Amino acid sequence: MHLYDYSSTHNNNPLKNLTAVRNYRVYTEQHLEAIPQIARLSPAQRRAMQVVAKVLPFRVNQYVIDELIDWNNIPHDSIFQLTFPQQDMLAPEDFDRIASMLDAQADPASLQTAIKAIREQLNPHPAAQQSLNVPRLDGEHLDGMQHKYRETVLFFPSQGQTCHSYCTFCFRWAQFVGDKSLRIATSESTLLHRYLERHREVTDLLITGGDPMIMKTRHLTSYLEPLATPAFEHLQTIRIGTKALSYWPHRFVLDDDAHALLQLLEKLVQAGKHVSIMAHCNHWRELDTPIAREAIRKLRETGVVIRSQSPLVAHINDDAEIWARMWKDQVKQGIVPYYMFVERNTGAKRYFEVPLVKAWEIYRTAIQQVSGMGRTARGPSMSAGPGKVEIQGVADINGERVFVLRFIQGRNPDWVQRPFFARYDAQATWLDDLRPAFGEQKFFFEEEYAAMSRDEHGLLMN
Ligand SMILES: *Cc1c(COP(=O)(O)O)cnc(C)c1O
Ligand code: SF4
Repeated sequence: MHLYDYSSTHNNNPLKNLTAVRNYRVYTEQHLEAIPQIARLSPAQRRAMQVVAKVLPFRVNQYVIDELIDWNNIPHDSIFQLTFPQQDMLAPEDFDRIASMLDAQADPASLQTAIKAIREQLNPHPAAQQSLNVPRLDGEHLDGMQHKYRETVLFFPSQGQTCHSYCTFCFRWAQFVGDKSLRIATSESTLLHRYLERHREVTDLLITGGDPMIMKTRHLTSYLEPLATPAFEHLQTIRIGTKALSYWPHRFVLDDDAHALLQLLEKLVQAGKHVSIMAHCNHWRELDTPIAREAIRKLRETGVVIRSQSPLVAHINDDAEIWARMWKDQVKQGIVPYYMFVERNTGAKRYFEVPLVKAWEIYRTAIQQVSGMGRTARGPSMSAGPGKVEIQGVADINGERVFVLRFIQGRNPDWVQRPFFARYDAQATWLDDLRPAFGEQKFFFEEEYAAMSRDEHGLLMN
């Protein structure tokens, strides 16, 4: 097996003019005022950012500031909205409470108590993440793992519980606030390996975070390299969810251990694994810089597939033109569009949520504009407690207007691909808002799901 030398540069390398490898520089809540471009905002806007950043974690790096945000279009710029806190992310009463405590220079302990109370109201663990999906090994809870769908295990490596920037919509925000009880993580790669060895029904491993690509290659190696051995033959697919292609493409090109990372990925591919980089990408601009293009090219050279997935978020990408252009650009660069998600019912949802009917209209308008190669993107999908539910459309059936829905993933595999119907509701933004159509009392899965929720593990595996 010959591994290609990824450190050699391409002849027409668009990066050859990038003289120095830029240092990775990060700003958090305490350093907001140190960002030079921030001076363009009014004192009131800067003040609002300080207040909101107390509750919702904030972090941004120099690359995002300099290369992705259009500072001539502040505050409306999509990438600015994606990363910088905005006043309306908090309910007015919560905002005023924190603002007045800061004005009064309240003591740190009472400020923390107030912050904690607000966070608790923001549904930090949507879809019963902490209670229903936690697997066990020899009776012990494996906290850094979720096993919700029969064939797929989700793993959250502890070193990957942060991210190159914090998107303010992120449903993982509770993991970033440094409150241990709110986190989901494990540092035990051996536990992961033992669990996978015993669960031969698992064909897919999804490594996620935070962002696992924040880890050094040597850590990723300890998790991933053993998977190339015969003990894990049943494992066919390894997915790595990451925002690094958008927020720190240097990870695959210029970082010290970029070369070793590409070799690790190639090794897994050569061992017969389907390796998929799940690129979290909200806007076409994220993949439109020379360094992002180079990172995509280098990744594809290893034989991995890059897929893209993203939530539809108000103020950021609630516009069909953005999605159409993003999917077209992705197909052109060899990326496979995979999911459009519905913004989750957590965190700053009051600011970011989009009515389901609008999400479907945006999807439909965008997908009509792309070729069949881009129509691999699944329609607006809600990652809810019972499973992933896709809005397939709005229809009029026997005089009743309904949403047509289906499970793409289900806690019970038997639910998948059974069309079902909900009463049309122009305001509904999440599955919980929907009621069964045609005068029925319950959705077909509701009783079974309630029974699973009563069972402590909620798993159908054993
Ligand atoms: C989305 C998701 C998966 C993967 O589902 P696919 O439809 O196979 O992409 C696995 N586990 C959980 C908990 C998920 O939310
Ligand atoms: S994990 Fe992804 S969605 Fe969440 S803040 Fe990081 S980049 Fe944004």
